[in-house]
Amino acid sequence: MTHPKIPLAGVIGSPIAHSRSPNIHGHWLKTLGLPGHYIPMKVEAEDLESVLRTLPKAGFVGVNVTIPHKERVLEIADLSTDRATLIGAANTLVFRKDGKIQADNTDGYGFMKNLEAAGTSWTPAAGPAALFGAGGAARAVIAALLQAGVPEIMISNRTRVRAEALQADFGKRIQVVDWVQAGNMLDDAALVVNTTSLGMIGNPPLRVPLDGLRKNTLVTDLVYTPLKTRLLQTAEEMGCATVDGLGMLLHQAVPGFERWFGERPTVDSATRAAALR
Ligand code: NAP
Repeated sequence: MTHPKIPLAGVIGSPIAHSRSPNIHGHWLKTLGLPGHYIPMKVEAEDLESVLRTLPKAGFVGVNVTIPHKERVLEIADLSTDRATLIGAANTLVFRKDGKIQADNTDGYGFMKNLEAAGTSWTPAAGPAALFGAGGAARAVIAALLQAGVPEIMISNRTRVRAEALQADFGKRIQVVDWVQAGNMLDDAALVVNTTSLGMIGNPPLRVPLDGLRKNTLVTDLVYTPLKTRLLQTAEEMGCATVDGLGMLLHQAVPGFERWFGERPTVDSATRAAALR
């Protein structure tokens, strides 16, 4: 008697104990009644390639990838989607039946879906976006905003050369603003995004002066621990619409889950609650 194979997926990173992805995927597997398991795996850089080549042989259909392996997996993968190539990093791998590893990046998709789902009056055409940070997450957000039609993105980063590198990669619609003048970006911004790790529990807060914020500006933070960062709290007090970062994490998980387990899951309040457990 043959038993159907139970698909396995998981998340690879180091450290990995903090990851909320197992809660999210576990919740969807359970509520959709699908067979499958999703496992956190702590993997060091020197073992990354051999682990990725071995997992398909053990029944894995794919994995999510987190810090510090998002760039390296793109080099290891046999194929990559256009958006992963453009961003220069991947967070979702599919182990294909032909043995090839396909890399995708769903962070920008998750970011846009989170804004859409919030149901605010913001649209990409509303005006310039102001972005704090120039790391990996910033690249994904910039690619998504440009594709959605945002006319201009002002970027300010502590290390200015990283912002200039983004300008070189993404072109004329990017403006670089010095970190000490980051607050000046806010006067013209229809959307403000924090893509730095400032404001996260254990890190210093984002100290950019926020008095330039306008009431009709939408403010969002990629940091989701705490859910309401100082940036979001201040923006809310100033009458701005705000969107927290947890929704981005939930939405970025959707394409991988669908590909691995065969059904498209819904992001709802129960998914949020599961991620926060
Ligand atoms: P990263 O590549 O390491 O970039 C970190 C960014 O934070 C850089 O711009 C860095 O500036 C800045 N930064 C760090 N410490 C700083 C300080 N003391 N002062 C000023 N700037 C500082 O990390 P990442 O992958 O882009 O992730 C950034 C944040 O987004 C993390 O908190 C991550 O958890 C979050 N994130 C959330 C989601 C989600 O689904 N909600 C998805 C992806 C990432 P320098 O260039 O000057 O170092």
